[in-house]
Amino acid sequence: MTQDPITRAVACNLCTGCGACAGAFPDFITMVDDPLNGRRPVVADGAKAREAAKAAASLCAGTGADFTRLPQTDAIDRDWGPVLAAWQGHAADAEIRHRGSSGGAVTALALFALQSGVVDGVAHIAARTDDPRLNEAVISRDRAALLRGAGSRYAQASPAEALGAIAAGSERTAFIGKPCDVASVAQAAAGDAALAAKLPLTIAIFCAGAPNLNATEKLLDRLEVPKGARLTDLRYRGAGWPGLMQARWLDEAGVEQVSKGIPYAEGWGRILQADRRWRCRICTDHTGAFADISVGDPWHTPPAGHEDAGRSLIVARTERGRALIHAAIAAGVLVATPEGRDAIARAQPGLVQTQGAVWGRRLVMRLMGMPVPADRGQPLLRFWLALPARDKLSSIAGTARRIIRARLWRAVRVSARVVTQ
Ligand SMILES: Cc1cc2nc3c(=O)[nH]c(=O)nc-3n(C[C@H](O)[C@H](O)[C@H](O)COP(=O)(O)OP(=O)(O)OC[C@H]3O[C@@H](n4cnc5c(N)ncnc54)[C@H](O)[C@@H]3O)c2cc1C
Ligand code: SF4
Ligand code: SF4
Repeated sequence: MTQDPITRAVACNLCTGCGACAGAFPDFITMVDDPLNGRRPVVADGAKAREAAKAAASLCAGTGADFTRLPQTDAIDRDWGPVLAAWQGHAADAEIRHRGSSGGAVTALALFALQSGVVDGVAHIAARTDDPRLNEAVISRDRAALLRGAGSRYAQASPAEALGAIAAGSERTAFIGKPCDVASVAQAAAGDAALAAKLPLTIAIFCAGAPNLNATEKLLDRLEVPKGARLTDLRYRGAGWPGLMQARWLDEAGVEQVSKGIPYAEGWGRILQADRRWRCRICTDHTGAFADISVGDPWHTPPAGHEDAGRSLIVARTERGRALIHAAIAAGVLVATPEGRDAIARAQPGLVQTQGAVWGRRLVMRLMGMPVPADRGQPLLRFWLALPARDKLSSIAGTARRIIRARLWRAVRVSARVVTQ
């Protein structure tokens, strides 16, 4: 039997795990936490499920996104998506700033959108309370609920699963997610005016890649959390900038224990990033081109130590995004000073290199007969040509080696093998 397009996207390593397909068709498509392959959709058997998967394919930005519909005025817009203006700043609320991943700007802006009546709810992800290794999509309506999501989770998460609830309800909802999550939501809204009217604000966090559950297990080993312990908290970022990675668990007597904390640079650099999914390595939008606002780390003005007072780089990508940022600054909930429009490139030299390698990686995939995302409107060849010769070679030879070593041409088959706590 011919594969449906969602199962095919997963099988061909094109799925980002955004959750839009499952959110839109929850009766037929379910997201499962596969420890190796990530949080991925599984389509039920039967003709109705296949029809649902066909309809869901139109929402899927994992298989391709259309950047030609984004306005561009100059080279900055062409390289990074629309940049109307940029700031560096933080939440005025000290608790939000402290708990936020960088400066708590995402949470502060979302809370301001709620409190000023721009939206009635905010769709985002939060750690599951029954098993903090895993994440769930939630819709928050107050500060306490929003704070559950503050701090980046360097793990698989599918915020676009909230799409179904947003479409079925009558509330205006802000959406927070990674660039790939926002791209699918933008694609869904572009084809559905009623849904678009319910999504007056999208906020993307910058993203270099989402590690799998195996990576989380390695992190827990490094934190010396006993195997099988009942976790009560797992923090990847936040509590200062960039913040320590740290876990809490209940010992046999039911007493909460706190693990050692390891610096972000060690946790990400030596443990987590190696287990990013292949789809992340061929991702061409790490900074949220399709969002109204995108937020990342201002690494060009680095923190002093591991738990500094946080700051975020805040980018307005649309007029409504810029208006919300201006209003939040005027209301005193966001403390921010303007940056040049070239701030993303200065803050994220690593992402400039990452973008550059993608053309080479996709070329090798094509030559080996593997499908690649049908993205339109990005100057990938130009990014690649700007790379030093050594990086050009590595994007080709290194990719060929990786594809052969990991047998990436084989179909990905997803199974829910997670033993929940
Ligand atoms: C996997 C990953 C990779 C990242 N890579 C980079 C990078 O290369 N460069 C960079 O500058 N920044 C990166 N970030 C973003 C950065 O860590 C901060 O999220 C960003 O600076 C915003 O901080 P904040 O304090 O303003 O946000 P906060 O106020 O802390 O809010 C963060 C928001 O992000 C949401 N969120 C957290 N984890 C996820 C997730 N896995 N999927 C979807 N939504 C999530 C939360 O629900 C919350 O609403 C990454 C984040 C993640 C999750
Ligand atoms: S990228 Fe998103 S919409 Fe596409 S198959 Fe994966 S989870 Fe579904
Ligand atoms: S690197 Fe790209 S595809 Fe991977 S999680 Fe981040 S935004 Fe999504």
